[in-house]
Amino acid sequence: MKSIRGATTVASDQPNEIRQAVKELLWEIAAKNQLKQDDIAFILFSNTADIRSLYPAKAAREAGFIMPALYSSAEPEIEGALPLCIRVLLLADGEGKGVPVYLREASRLRKDKFARFNVALDGPAGSGKSTIAKLLAAQYDILYLDTGAMYRACALKALRCEVSLDDARAVETLMEHTCLDIRYEGGKQATYLDGEDVSSQIRTPEVAGAASAVAAHACVRKKMVEMQRSIAAKQSCVLDGRDIGTEVLPHADFKFFLTASSAVRAKRRCEDLKAMGLAADFEEVKKQIEERDYRDAHRDISPLRQAEDACLIDTSDLSVDEVLLRIHAKIQEKI
Ligand code: C5P
Repeated sequence: MKSIRGATTVASDQPNEIRQAVKELLWEIAAKNQLKQDDIAFILFSNTADIRSLYPAKAAREAGFIMPALYSSAEPEIEGALPLCIRVLLLADGEGKGVPVYLREASRLRKDKFARFNVALDGPAGSGKSTIAKLLAAQYDILYLDTGAMYRACALKALRCEVSLDDARAVETLMEHTCLDIRYEGGKQATYLDGEDVSSQIRTPEVAGAASAVAAHACVRKKMVEMQRSIAAKQSCVLDGRDIGTEVLPHADFKFFLTASSAVRAKRRCEDLKAMGLAADFEEVKKQIEERDYRDAHRDISPLRQAEDACLIDTSDLSVDEVLLRIHAKIQEKI
């Protein structure tokens, strides 16, 4: 079963207006979610107290929605609530997330659905950026770009070609012969290096260490930043990295800098590695993370640092949900 939400408004409390608005809303939900009547099990309406002349459920029956179970309820009067509003929750066959539909004045209820915005999420390795970025992107139904994956792919190429990671000239020449491509397959980012999907090969500690070395070169950063900006310019998105709020999107609508103690970060990274079936020694992982952070924070170009206007969140003692709630609250404040 999937649940689909929607809402609409009427100009006045007239039966004909309600009939028209309910029909339009249900048809739009059916069309956007490719639903037939048989697929819909249940439709639950609620309307603001200023709608009295017709139950939206009755309007739905009249609009031809005969098969699903229907239920209407009136909401209490709440000061400041959008007036003359009808909300709906549909339960329908199918998997995954339903496409919500907000029509007329009700579109103001979901500004996040209509506004274009981007979120910069920076911080050191293991601070929780990618977990949070993925969930945030799913919540707002926007794109997630893992910029670290791009540097990792460059590093993988350098390792495969046995190019010295500190040799700027050699890395620059290598970059001229490297084709990096970010695709979205089944809603997930896939990182392609010279036509090969390297999404899992780039997840090793060796590649992570090499990424931080190649990421220090201006030629690599220039190429990556251009790609990241061009992807971000096309849609609402969450980008995670080290320099998103300071360099890639200095005018991002929302900026967060996540951090956590190195012990907590090393513990998280060990769990990630174990989940991938890779060996993980806590002390060794902690040392690698600290070295990588030091390199990332002390390089000349776009070092890891918190943008002045970024909101700092220490995730050491916070659950994923608590971090998400804080970010969500900041976003809702503004849009
Ligand atoms: O985030 P992740 O651990 O995948 O990043 C790997 C490395 O890529 C980082 O240690 C950093 O050196 C580099 N990086 C960067 N700028 C970004 C993202 C990652 O320099 N925006």
